[in-house]
Amino acid sequence: MEAKRIKKLPPYLFARIEKKIEEAKEKGIDIISFGIGDPDSPTPQYIIDELCKEAQNAENHQYPSSAGMLSFRQAVCDYYQDTHGVELDPKNEVVTLIGSKEGVGHINFCYVDPGDINLVPDPGYPVYSIGTLLAGGDSYLMPLLAENGFLPDFTKIPEDIAKKAKLMFLNYPNNPTGAVAGKDFFAEAVAFAKKYDIIICHDAAYTELAFEGYEPTSILEVPGAKEVCIEFGSLSKPFNMTGWRIAWAVGRSDVIDALTRLKSNLDSGQFQAIQYAAIKGLTGSKDSVIELRSLYRRRMEKVIKGLNGMGWNLPIPKATFYVWAPVPKGFTSASFAEYVLDKAGVIITPGNGYGEYGEGYFRISITLADERIDEGLKRLKEHLGKVEF
Ligand SMILES: *Cc1c(COP(=O)(O)O)cnc(C)c1O
Repeated sequence: MEAKRIKKLPPYLFARIEKKIEEAKEKGIDIISFGIGDPDSPTPQYIIDELCKEAQNAENHQYPSSAGMLSFRQAVCDYYQDTHGVELDPKNEVVTLIGSKEGVGHINFCYVDPGDINLVPDPGYPVYSIGTLLAGGDSYLMPLLAENGFLPDFTKIPEDIAKKAKLMFLNYPNNPTGAVAGKDFFAEAVAFAKKYDIIICHDAAYTELAFEGYEPTSILEVPGAKEVCIEFGSLSKPFNMTGWRIAWAVGRSDVIDALTRLKSNLDSGQFQAIQYAAIKGLTGSKDSVIELRSLYRRRMEKVIKGLNGMGWNLPIPKATFYVWAPVPKGFTSASFAEYVLDKAGVIITPGNGYGEYGEGYFRISITLADERIDEGLKRLKEHLGKVEF
């Protein structure tokens, strides 16, 4: 008999779509997927070379430390100093993670007892609410609405909820909406968290993927943020390293300590050769990231032009590799995703997969080759023609 927490896991939303993909493949239909947000470019060669070198070193074959190598934590601190002007102590304010998903999930076990409340953005990365649920807590949903630039409105959170809340998850640049947040918004979030004694967990996975001189802010740039915030960062997206599983959490020292203690009882850190390779990424030339930004920017323009040519009216997102768009008139998120798969052999992600406030939207990820994007857009145009809203 499974535990209640496993039984409570939401049904896998994409099961229906995956079944359809299988059926289409059996029939030999070529499917184009704008679904998964997983970089299609390889990890930069200098990072791979460092992994290969360090994999040969027997010292790295033993258990690493749970907090991560001090040299990796120092590289994270240097990165924060250079990029955000934020000073961090590598010994007390940084922990190495086996991907930020791991940290985002595990932080709940450090602060959430059964019946506790977390503030969770909706639509949002599913791990925020599922991590809360696995720890026995309840999510209070903060709607991310187009009219507010997909930022939560803290004035709408009832006082009794705010007083009870333990953690607040935020994520900018945002998955799935592509929205960005400025320093003013983060300052507001920090003030709210201080007033109600809430710990902010800011997921900054897309900070490096911004376009046209737009430079995303770290929440830790807000004066005093370190008293109430931790921030998650990851090499997954900027260095095409989703498979490597290497990330960090930084910020408030007792929170970092709690997460480190929890992790020391569940995992034993990440392979040191991977940490060495990640140091190369963080401290090396910025050229590969700059090149990646221009690749995504070019693809963004392609997709936005294509969609706007069919009747959408979308701006080019300032960051991330996602386009978040409303479904045409007469469709729900699910029926639109099913329609384009059936008619055009194109996969998009239905917005309701990211929460109830994602209903009425769909997400396109541009992590596929340019020719595939062209072909996908061509097929959409053929089957949708001009859309209305
Ligand atoms: C991709 C992504 C991450 C990165 O996860 P890793 O576990 O570091 O690979 C974190 N948060 C969001 C919102 C993401 O989309």
